[in-house]
Amino acid sequence: MYPRVVIDQKKLYENTKIVVDKAKEKGVNVHVVTKVHSADIKLAQVCLDAGAYGIADSRIKNLKKLESLKCEKILLRLPMHSEVDEVIALADISFNSELSTIKLLDVAAAKANKKHRIIVMFDLGDLREGFLPEEVDQVIPEILKCDHIVIEGIGVNLTCYGGVIPTHDNLSELERLANHIENTYHIKLNVVSGGNSSSLYLLDGSDLPSRINNLRIGEGIVLGREAAYGEQIEGTNDDAFILEAQLIEYKTKASMPKGIIGMDAFGNKPVFEDKGMIKRGIVAVGRHDVDHGALIPIDSRITILGASSDHLILDFTAAQEEYEVGDIVQFKMEYGAMLRLFTSEYVDREYR
Ligand SMILES: *Cc1c(COP(=O)(O)O)cnc(C)c1O
Repeated sequence: MYPRVVIDQKKLYENTKIVVDKAKEKGVNVHVVTKVHSADIKLAQVCLDAGAYGIADSRIKNLKKLESLKCEKILLRLPMHSEVDEVIALADISFNSELSTIKLLDVAAAKANKKHRIIVMFDLGDLREGFLPEEVDQVIPEILKCDHIVIEGIGVNLTCYGGVIPTHDNLSELERLANHIENTYHIKLNVVSGGNSSSLYLLDGSDLPSRINNLRIGEGIVLGREAAYGEQIEGTNDDAFILEAQLIEYKTKASMPKGIIGMDAFGNKPVFEDKGMIKRGIVAVGRHDVDHGALIPIDSRITILGASSDHLILDFTAAQEEYEVGDIVQFKMEYGAMLRLFTSEYVDREYR
């Protein structure tokens, strides 16, 4: 059935191994982040086979799908107050930056007769989650009062909201916080988690502070792309995941619509470039399923004109003799496309 994502498991394995081995050389464990494929258990297993230390996901429902895998599981997104019991049941470790939530986790862990490990998140400038560094001495003593909570380590998230790039400077601040916490409170921090795929470029030089011993990697593994500068990581595949969609209309039509232009289906006023008559094709996939701005046609003669909920409209003018209705058009994808393709119930998966 189409549309479908064709997954090359060997390429995913290779990507994982390259990233994991690079990290290991610097004493860094990699938790593979599974949210971009909605925690597909087959793919999570491929990454574990290739050496990923554990699994991390932002959603508890995704960790539930992966319950049967024997590995360490991290909940990346701060727990909601309403899900603390599930967090205790399904996550070995959760990321946290609110005392009220940590206290509820403590109660839930006590009820379940468990110890729950947390990574205390610090905000080093990206302005998404995290305590401010100057709060450290108010926060840590409060957490230490929670008998069923263990501070496994500290962490930071960068380049997600504010676009702040991880550097020796800001990650040294995390290292300084780790040393401060250990020396002041006489506890050992097992994990100092230095970010996501935007930290991968630091594995190449000598700029990664030595205490950073963990990264959570999604994009860098599935697409082989480091996320600070958008470079392909040497040796990795950018086509482990391919979208295939079927042509349902193929006609020569004008490049400019005829009539008075109002708003499109999404409330935007579209603009068009007059290229005369062109060969237009429609493939059966749409905004329900994909962010079309993050798709790359493998046949580089094809360009993307636009999309509505269920239709993706392509310009085939440069390749018009070679296609007909019923043909399959293939695309590589960027992160935003992949995220939605794996969430859409209309998209099949073909494992190779
Ligand atoms: C999504 C996420 C990651 C993984 O990000 P990538 O850029 O895909 O590697 C890591 N950490 C946190 C907290 C996340 O939410």
